[in-house]
Amino acid sequence: MPTENRGLHNALRQVHLKTERFNLNGFAISGLASYLQVPEFDFGVDMGECPISAVSLNHIFLTHAHGDHSRCLMRHHSLRKMMGIPKPSVYYIPENLVENAANWIHAEAMFEGVPEYRFQLPKIVPVSPHKKIPLEYRKDLMIEAFPVKHAIPAMGCTLYLHKHKLKDEYLRCDTAEIIALRKEKVEITREVFEPLVSFMGDTLGESLLEQKHVWNSEILVTECTFLDEGEEEMANKKGHTHLSQIVQCLNEFGSEIQCKKIVLNHFSMKYSEKHIQETLEKNIPEAFRDKVIAFI
Ligand SMILES: [Zn+2]
Ligand SMILES: [Zn+2]
Repeated sequence: MPTENRGLHNALRQVHLKTERFNLNGFAISGLASYLQVPEFDFGVDMGECPISAVSLNHIFLTHAHGDHSRCLMRHHSLRKMMGIPKPSVYYIPENLVENAANWIHAEAMFEGVPEYRFQLPKIVPVSPHKKIPLEYRKDLMIEAFPVKHAIPAMGCTLYLHKHKLKDEYLRCDTAEIIALRKEKVEITREVFEPLVSFMGDTLGESLLEQKHVWNSEILVTECTFLDEGEEEMANKKGHTHLSQIVQCLNEFGSEIQCKKIVLNHFSMKYSEKHIQETLEKNIPEAFRDKVIAFI
């Protein structure tokens, strides 16, 4: 039986990680709760718990329906109303979960005694795989979901910075020439999608091989529920990743990996902080030791 570790197992005690471009705040321990917030992008992933700091976020992506990831989604919505935030937050939900989510949200409102005539669904955007959607209030950012293998249907997502860059042939033009070209309505720019961060959610390790594009993201956040030798089969059975599979990807993809940081989270609650750190140190290939970070 896991013994309670006050720091590690308190879902309201957030981990704060600073990357070059943004802060990643939140918590993710398997079975307890999972929620991640990126305040700079006004974006969050999952809502297994809803701390006050998450309330101001306008865009939330839900990876899958397991309670430790979804439980407080409507708490987020109702806290906003209670605190008088007029802007409706937007919930990005895998398309195959939307109907059940709507039923669940309705049932919860009825349970709380909300009269039917006052009930209103929050703004839900159904997300289908491999389709970029601009964020409602941040048109410079686009979200693209992709399927991952888990015990139930689940998706990960990548957040892209959407930019327009000058086409190579116009790079040497001066300002006057650019203005002239624009006047002539010449298409001088091309669209660029910069992968800022990928979130895998709960996933089998093999999705890290199948969704190889996630290794191009500046930051990759991926689960690592199981660590120890002999637990490979259990990880597979429960739909989770074993550390050995992350090591396999690091070895296999090597220098192709573009990530500046690889953030591991969602560890099983049976491990102590010391065990997590020591096991990572022992197993992560040397070339990646500075890049791989335990989100604890
Ligand atoms: Zn989980
Ligand atoms: Zn799950």
